[in-house]
Amino acid sequence: QNSDSRTLLKMYEETAKLYNHILLKTENGSGALKYLNQREIDNDLIKTFNLGYAPNNSDLLLQFFKDRSISEDILRKSGLFAENEDGQLFDRFRDRMMVPITDEAGNVVAFSGRILDKNASTAKYLNSPETEIFSKSKVLFNLSNAKKSIRDNQNVILFEGFMDVLSAYKAGVKNGVASMGTSLTDQQLYTLSRLTNQINICYDGDDPGVEATYRALTQLSDERFTYGVISVPDQKDPDEYIRSEGFEKFNSLVKNGVQTPISFILNYFRRHYNLNNEHDQLEFLNQSLQEIVKLSSPVEIDMYVGKVADEMNVSKESINKELDSLRRSNA
Ligand code: ATP
Ligand code: MN
Ligand code: MN
Ligand code: MN
Repeated sequence: QNSDSRTLLKMYEETAKLYNHILLKTENGSGALKYLNQREIDNDLIKTFNLGYAPNNSDLLLQFFKDRSISEDILRKSGLFAENEDGQLFDRFRDRMMVPITDEAGNVVAFSGRILDKNASTAKYLNSPETEIFSKSKVLFNLSNAKKSIRDNQNVILFEGFMDVLSAYKAGVKNGVASMGTSLTDQQLYTLSRLTNQINICYDGDDPGVEATYRALTQLSDERFTYGVISVPDQKDPDEYIRSEGFEKFNSLVKNGVQTPISFILNYFRRHYNLNNEHDQLEFLNQSLQEIVKLSSPVEIDMYVGKVADEMNVSKESINKELDSLRRSNA
Protein backbone atom coordinates (compact mmCIF):
# COMPACT_ATOMS: atom_id res chain seq x y z
CA GLN A 1 0.00 0.00 0.00
CA ASN A 2 1.59 3.26 -1.07
CA SER A 3 1.34 6.49 0.88
CA ASP A 4 -1.35 7.94 -1.41
CA SER A 5 -3.59 4.98 -0.69
CA ARG A 6 -3.03 5.35 3.02
CA THR A 7 -3.94 9.03 2.84
CA LEU A 8 -7.06 8.23 0.81
CA LEU A 9 -8.18 5.58 3.30
CA LYS A 10 -7.72 8.08 6.11
CA MET A 11 -9.72 10.69 4.19
CA TYR A 12 -12.60 8.31 3.57
CA GLU A 13 -12.64 7.29 7.20
CA GLU A 14 -12.71 10.92 8.34
CA THR A 15 -15.35 11.81 5.77
CA ALA A 16 -17.61 8.98 6.92
CA LYS A 17 -17.18 10.15 10.50
CA LEU A 18 -17.97 13.73 9.56
CA TYR A 19 -21.10 12.82 7.56
CA ASN A 20 -22.26 10.55 10.37
CA HIS A 21 -21.78 13.33 12.91
CA ILE A 22 -23.69 15.80 10.75
CA LEU A 23 -26.56 13.33 10.41
CA LEU A 24 -26.86 12.45 14.07
CA LYS A 25 -25.68 15.53 15.90
CA THR A 26 -26.47 18.64 13.89
CA GLU A 27 -29.53 20.59 12.85
CA ASN A 28 -28.30 20.32 9.27
CA GLY A 29 -28.86 16.59 9.37
CA SER A 30 -32.35 16.64 10.80
CA GLY A 31 -34.10 16.33 7.42
CA ALA A 32 -32.03 13.31 6.48
CA LEU A 33 -32.54 11.77 9.90
CA LYS A 34 -36.25 12.20 9.50
CA TYR A 35 -36.07 10.60 6.06
CA LEU A 36 -34.21 7.59 7.47
CA ASN A 37 -36.56 7.24 10.39
CA GLN A 38 -39.49 7.30 7.98
CA ARG A 39 -37.83 4.37 6.26
CA GLU A 40 -37.65 2.67 9.65
CA ILE A 41 -33.90 2.97 9.82
CA ASP A 42 -33.24 3.66 13.47
CA ASN A 43 -30.16 5.08 15.17
CA ASP A 44 -28.76 1.61 15.91
CA LEU A 45 -28.77 0.72 12.25
CA ILE A 46 -27.35 4.14 11.38
CA LYS A 47 -24.47 3.42 13.74
CA THR A 48 -23.94 -0.14 12.53
CA PHE A 49 -23.70 1.01 8.92
CA ASN A 50 -22.09 4.33 9.74
CA LEU A 51 -24.66 6.17 7.63
CA GLY A 52 -24.32 9.89 7.19
CA TYR A 53 -25.56 13.03 5.54
CA ALA A 54 -23.68 15.23 3.09
CA PRO A 55 -25.21 18.71 3.48
CA ASN A 56 -26.22 20.94 0.62
CA ASN A 57 -22.91 22.75 0.59
CA SER A 58 -20.33 22.63 -2.17
CA ASP A 59 -17.21 23.27 -0.12
CA LEU A 60 -17.79 21.74 3.27
CA LEU A 61 -15.52 18.73 2.68
CA LEU A 62 -13.18 20.80 0.55
CA GLN A 63 -12.60 23.21 3.42
CA PHE A 64 -12.35 20.37 5.90
CA PHE A 65 -9.42 18.81 4.02
CA LYS A 66 -7.80 22.10 3.06
CA ASP A 67 -7.68 22.87 6.78
CA ARG A 68 -5.82 19.60 7.17
CA SER A 69 -3.32 20.60 4.49
CA ILE A 70 -4.25 17.83 2.06
CA SER A 71 -2.61 18.53 -1.29
CA GLU A 72 -4.63 19.49 -4.36
CA ASP A 73 -3.26 16.40 -6.08
CA ILE A 74 -4.67 14.07 -3.44
CA LEU A 75 -7.95 15.97 -3.32
CA ARG A 76 -8.32 15.28 -7.04
CA LYS A 77 -7.36 11.64 -6.70
CA SER A 78 -9.79 11.09 -3.84
CA GLY A 79 -12.98 11.03 -5.89
CA LEU A 80 -14.68 12.98 -3.13
CA PHE A 81 -14.77 16.09 -5.32
CA ALA A 82 -15.98 17.04 -8.73
CA GLU A 83 -14.54 19.76 -10.91
CA ASN A 84 -16.32 22.73 -12.48
CA GLU A 85 -15.53 24.29 -15.88
CA ASP A 86 -12.85 26.49 -14.34
CA GLY A 87 -11.09 23.50 -12.85
CA GLN A 88 -12.25 24.34 -9.33
CA LEU A 89 -13.02 21.44 -7.05
CA PHE A 90 -16.30 21.16 -5.18
CA ASP A 91 -17.91 18.51 -2.98
CA ARG A 92 -19.22 15.68 -5.12
CA PHE A 93 -21.93 14.63 -2.67
CA ARG A 94 -24.43 17.29 -1.65
CA ASP A 95 -27.76 16.94 0.09
CA ARG A 96 -27.59 13.16 0.05
CA MET A 97 -27.94 10.41 2.60
CA MET A 98 -24.55 8.73 2.61
CA VAL A 99 -23.85 5.02 2.69
CA PRO A 100 -20.18 4.19 3.23
CA ILE A 101 -18.88 1.28 1.16
CA THR A 102 -16.16 -0.73 2.86
CA ASP A 103 -13.57 -3.16 1.59
CA GLU A 104 -13.26 -6.68 2.94
CA ALA A 105 -11.28 -5.45 5.92
CA GLY A 106 -13.90 -2.85 6.81
CA ASN A 107 -12.09 0.27 5.57
CA VAL A 108 -14.31 2.89 3.97
CA VAL A 109 -13.26 3.07 0.31
CA ALA A 110 -16.24 4.75 -1.35
CA PHE A 111 -19.72 6.15 -0.84
CA SER A 112 -23.11 5.78 -2.34
CA GLY A 113 -25.27 8.84 -1.80
CA ARG A 114 -29.04 8.77 -2.03
CA ILE A 115 -31.28 11.75 -2.67
CA LEU A 116 -33.89 12.40 -0.01
CA ASP A 117 -36.51 13.71 -2.34
CA LYS A 118 -38.44 11.21 -4.44
CA ASN A 119 -39.10 13.71 -7.19
CA ALA A 120 -35.67 15.22 -7.57
CA SER A 121 -34.45 15.35 -11.15
CA THR A 122 -31.01 13.96 -10.42
CA ALA A 123 -30.02 10.27 -10.22
CA LYS A 124 -31.38 8.51 -7.13
CA TYR A 125 -28.01 7.06 -6.21
CA LEU A 126 -24.63 8.65 -6.86
CA ASN A 127 -21.58 6.44 -6.37
CA SER A 128 -17.95 7.33 -5.86
CA PRO A 129 -15.81 7.05 -8.99
CA GLU A 130 -13.05 4.46 -9.23
CA THR A 131 -9.95 5.46 -7.30
CA GLU A 132 -6.70 3.91 -6.15
CA ILE A 133 -8.59 2.37 -3.25
CA PHE A 134 -11.96 1.63 -4.90
CA SER A 135 -12.83 -0.62 -7.76
CA LYS A 136 -16.51 -1.36 -8.09
CA SER A 137 -15.84 -4.70 -9.71
CA LYS A 138 -14.02 -5.90 -6.60
CA VAL A 139 -16.11 -4.53 -3.76
CA LEU A 140 -19.24 -6.14 -2.36
CA PHE A 141 -21.31 -3.92 -0.11
CA ASN A 142 -21.47 -5.21 3.49
CA LEU A 143 -19.03 -8.07 2.94
CA SER A 144 -16.89 -7.07 5.92
CA ASN A 145 -19.95 -7.19 8.22
CA ALA A 146 -21.49 -10.25 6.63
CA LYS A 147 -18.46 -12.55 6.55
CA LYS A 148 -19.09 -14.33 9.81
CA SER A 149 -22.76 -14.86 9.07
CA ILE A 150 -21.97 -16.12 5.55
CA ARG A 151 -19.67 -18.74 7.07
CA ASP A 152 -22.14 -19.65 9.81
CA ASN A 153 -25.08 -20.02 7.41
CA GLN A 154 -22.97 -21.51 4.64
CA ASN A 155 -24.63 -19.23 2.13
CA VAL A 156 -24.55 -15.64 0.99
CA ILE A 157 -27.61 -13.67 -0.05
CA LEU A 158 -27.13 -11.36 -2.98
CA PHE A 159 -29.42 -8.31 -2.93
CA GLU A 160 -29.96 -5.66 -5.56
CA GLY A 161 -29.82 -2.60 -3.34
CA PHE A 162 -28.04 -1.34 -0.26
CA MET A 163 -31.33 -0.62 1.46
CA ASP A 164 -32.30 -4.26 1.06
CA VAL A 165 -29.08 -5.30 2.78
CA LEU A 166 -29.82 -2.88 5.63
CA SER A 167 -33.40 -3.98 6.13
CA ALA A 168 -32.46 -7.65 6.00
CA TYR A 169 -29.77 -7.01 8.60
CA LYS A 170 -32.32 -5.38 10.84
CA ALA A 171 -34.57 -8.40 10.37
CA GLY A 172 -31.69 -10.60 11.56
CA VAL A 173 -30.60 -11.79 8.13
CA LYS A 174 -26.97 -10.74 8.27
CA ASN A 175 -25.38 -12.70 5.44
CA GLY A 176 -26.50 -10.26 2.75
CA VAL A 177 -24.31 -8.35 0.32
CA ALA A 178 -24.94 -6.24 -2.78
CA SER A 179 -22.81 -5.46 -5.78
CA MET A 180 -22.43 -1.88 -6.93
CA GLY A 181 -25.22 -2.19 -9.48
CA THR A 182 -23.36 -4.61 -11.74
CA SER A 183 -23.49 -8.37 -12.23
CA LEU A 184 -21.03 -10.41 -10.18
CA THR A 185 -17.49 -10.29 -11.47
CA ASP A 186 -14.91 -13.09 -11.35
CA GLN A 187 -13.10 -11.27 -8.56
CA GLN A 188 -16.25 -11.03 -6.47
CA LEU A 189 -17.00 -14.70 -7.08
CA TYR A 190 -13.49 -15.60 -6.04
CA THR A 191 -13.86 -13.60 -2.82
CA LEU A 192 -17.15 -15.32 -2.04
CA SER A 193 -15.76 -18.76 -2.86
CA ARG A 194 -13.44 -18.51 0.11
CA LEU A 195 -16.45 -18.16 2.42
CA THR A 196 -19.20 -20.34 0.99
CA ASN A 197 -20.33 -22.33 -2.03
CA GLN A 198 -23.98 -21.32 -2.02
CA ILE A 199 -25.23 -18.04 -3.52
CA ASN A 200 -28.88 -17.16 -3.03
CA ILE A 201 -30.14 -14.40 -5.27
CA CYS A 202 -32.76 -12.18 -3.67
CA TYR A 203 -33.34 -9.41 -6.17
CA ASP A 204 -36.37 -7.13 -6.33
CA GLY A 205 -39.70 -8.80 -7.08
CA ASP A 206 -40.55 -6.26 -9.80
CA ASP A 207 -40.06 -6.93 -13.52
CA PRO A 208 -36.51 -5.55 -13.74
CA GLY A 209 -35.54 -7.63 -10.70
CA VAL A 210 -37.02 -10.81 -12.18
CA GLU A 211 -35.27 -10.16 -15.50
CA ALA A 212 -31.98 -9.54 -13.66
CA THR A 213 -32.40 -12.81 -11.76
CA TYR A 214 -32.96 -14.72 -14.99
CA ARG A 215 -29.91 -13.08 -16.56
CA ALA A 216 -27.80 -13.81 -13.51
CA LEU A 217 -28.79 -17.48 -13.52
CA THR A 218 -27.99 -17.90 -17.17
CA GLN A 219 -24.63 -16.13 -16.79
CA LEU A 220 -23.47 -17.58 -13.50
CA SER A 221 -22.10 -20.95 -14.39
CA ASP A 222 -19.20 -20.95 -11.93
CA GLU A 223 -18.83 -24.56 -10.89
CA ARG A 224 -17.69 -23.64 -7.41
CA PHE A 225 -21.19 -22.56 -6.45
CA THR A 226 -24.69 -23.86 -6.06
CA TYR A 227 -27.25 -21.18 -6.77
CA GLY A 228 -30.64 -20.52 -5.26
CA VAL A 229 -33.35 -17.91 -5.78
CA ILE A 230 -35.42 -16.20 -3.13
CA SER A 231 -38.39 -14.64 -4.93
CA VAL A 232 -39.97 -11.68 -3.17
CA PRO A 233 -43.77 -11.66 -3.65
CA ASP A 234 -46.04 -8.85 -4.80
CA GLN A 235 -43.48 -7.04 -6.98
CA LYS A 236 -41.86 -5.76 -3.81
CA ASP A 237 -38.19 -5.36 -3.13
CA PRO A 238 -36.83 -7.06 -0.01
CA ASP A 239 -36.82 -3.78 1.95
CA GLU A 240 -40.46 -3.08 1.06
CA TYR A 241 -41.41 -6.66 1.84
CA ILE A 242 -39.74 -6.58 5.24
CA ARG A 243 -41.42 -3.31 6.15
CA SER A 244 -44.88 -4.40 5.06
CA GLU A 245 -44.82 -8.06 6.09
CA GLY A 246 -42.48 -8.02 9.05
CA PHE A 247 -39.24 -9.67 10.11
CA GLU A 248 -40.70 -13.10 10.71
CA LYS A 249 -42.17 -13.53 7.25
CA PHE A 250 -38.94 -12.44 5.67
CA ASN A 251 -36.96 -14.85 7.80
CA SER A 252 -39.17 -17.71 6.79
CA LEU A 253 -38.92 -16.70 3.13
CA VAL A 254 -35.13 -16.84 3.45
CA LYS A 255 -35.24 -20.12 5.32
CA ASN A 256 -37.93 -22.00 3.42
CA GLY A 257 -38.36 -20.15 0.17
CA VAL A 258 -35.11 -20.86 -1.63
CA GLN A 259 -35.95 -22.12 -5.11
CA THR A 260 -33.64 -24.09 -7.35
CA PRO A 261 -32.55 -22.25 -10.50
CA ILE A 262 -34.54 -24.64 -12.72
CA SER A 263 -37.69 -24.06 -10.70
CA PHE A 264 -37.28 -20.28 -11.02
CA ILE A 265 -36.53 -20.55 -14.73
CA LEU A 266 -39.58 -22.71 -15.46
CA ASN A 267 -41.73 -20.21 -13.57
CA TYR A 268 -40.15 -17.42 -15.55
CA PHE A 269 -41.08 -19.17 -18.80
CA ARG A 270 -44.61 -19.84 -17.53
CA ARG A 271 -45.11 -16.14 -17.01
CA HIS A 272 -43.73 -15.29 -20.42
CA TYR A 273 -45.98 -17.58 -22.43
CA ASN A 274 -49.70 -17.68 -22.76
CA LEU A 275 -50.20 -21.32 -21.88
CA ASN A 276 -53.77 -21.34 -23.22
CA ASN A 277 -52.35 -20.98 -26.69
CA GLU A 278 -50.96 -24.10 -28.39
CA HIS A 279 -48.15 -22.30 -30.15
CA ASP A 280 -46.98 -20.90 -26.81
CA GLN A 281 -47.33 -24.29 -25.17
CA LEU A 282 -44.88 -25.76 -27.65
CA GLU A 283 -42.50 -22.84 -27.17
CA PHE A 284 -42.73 -23.25 -23.41
CA LEU A 285 -41.96 -26.96 -23.75
CA ASN A 286 -39.01 -26.36 -26.06
CA GLN A 287 -37.51 -23.68 -23.87
CA SER A 288 -38.05 -25.69 -20.72
CA LEU A 289 -36.44 -28.81 -22.19
CA GLN A 290 -33.40 -26.80 -23.21
CA GLU A 291 -32.96 -25.86 -19.57
CA ILE A 292 -33.81 -29.27 -18.15
CA VAL A 293 -31.26 -30.91 -20.42
CA LYS A 294 -28.52 -28.86 -18.74
CA LEU A 295 -29.19 -30.45 -15.35
CA SER A 296 -26.77 -33.09 -14.19
CA SER A 297 -28.75 -34.94 -11.55
CA PRO A 298 -30.89 -37.75 -13.04
CA VAL A 299 -33.36 -37.48 -10.18
CA GLU A 300 -33.75 -33.76 -10.72
CA ILE A 301 -34.20 -34.31 -14.45
CA ASP A 302 -36.82 -36.95 -13.86
CA MET A 303 -38.69 -34.73 -11.44
CA TYR A 304 -38.92 -31.77 -13.81
CA VAL A 305 -39.71 -33.98 -16.79
CA GLY A 306 -42.62 -35.27 -14.73
CA LYS A 307 -43.81 -31.78 -13.84
CA VAL A 308 -43.65 -30.46 -17.38
CA ALA A 309 -45.26 -33.63 -18.77
CA ASP A 310 -48.18 -33.32 -16.35
CA GLU A 311 -48.55 -29.66 -16.94
CA MET A 312 -48.56 -29.90 -20.74
CA ASN A 313 -50.46 -33.15 -20.84
CA VAL A 314 -47.83 -35.07 -22.75
CA SER A 315 -46.13 -38.36 -21.90
CA LYS A 316 -42.83 -38.56 -20.07
CA GLU A 317 -41.62 -40.92 -22.80
CA SER A 318 -42.01 -38.35 -25.53
CA ILE A 319 -40.28 -35.71 -23.39
CA ASN A 320 -37.39 -38.05 -22.71
CA LYS A 321 -37.11 -38.72 -26.43
CA GLU A 322 -36.87 -34.98 -27.05
CA LEU A 323 -34.22 -34.69 -24.37
CA ASP A 324 -32.22 -37.46 -26.01
CA SER A 325 -32.28 -35.71 -29.32
CA LEU A 326 -31.28 -32.43 -27.67
CA ARG A 327 -28.36 -34.20 -26.01
CA ARG A 328 -27.27 -35.59 -29.38
CA SER A 329 -27.43 -32.22 -31.09
CA ASN A 330 -25.60 -30.52 -28.20
CA ALA A 331 -22.86 -33.15 -28.17
P1 ATP B 1 -34.48 2.76 -2.62
O1 ATP B 1 -35.18 1.75 -1.79
O2 ATP B 1 -33.62 3.69 -1.82
O3 ATP B 1 -35.38 3.50 -3.55
P2 ATP B 1 -33.43 0.59 -4.18
O4 ATP B 1 -32.23 -0.15 -3.70
O5 ATP B 1 -34.76 -0.06 -4.03
O6 ATP B 1 -33.39 2.02 -3.51
P3 ATP B 1 -33.52 0.26 -7.02
O7 ATP B 1 -34.17 1.27 -7.90
O8 ATP B 1 -34.23 -1.03 -6.80
O9 ATP B 1 -33.16 1.00 -5.68
O10 ATP B 1 -32.08 -0.02 -7.59
C1 ATP B 1 -31.27 -1.05 -7.05
C2 ATP B 1 -29.82 -0.62 -6.92
O11 ATP B 1 -29.36 -0.16 -8.17
C3 ATP B 1 -29.56 0.53 -5.96
O12 ATP B 1 -29.38 0.13 -4.63
C4 ATP B 1 -28.30 1.09 -6.51
O13 ATP B 1 -27.18 0.32 -6.11
C5 ATP B 1 -28.46 0.92 -7.97
N1 ATP B 1 -29.00 2.15 -8.56
C6 ATP B 1 -30.30 2.51 -8.69
N2 ATP B 1 -30.43 3.71 -9.27
C7 ATP B 1 -29.16 4.11 -9.51
C8 ATP B 1 -28.59 5.27 -10.11
N3 ATP B 1 -29.33 6.26 -10.58
N4 ATP B 1 -27.24 5.33 -10.21
C9 ATP B 1 -26.45 4.34 -9.75
N5 ATP B 1 -26.94 3.24 -9.17
C10 ATP B 1 -28.26 3.11 -9.06
MN1 MN C 1 -34.81 -2.52 -8.40
MN1 MN D 1 -35.24 -1.90 -5.06
MN1 MN E 1 -36.05 -0.11 -2.32
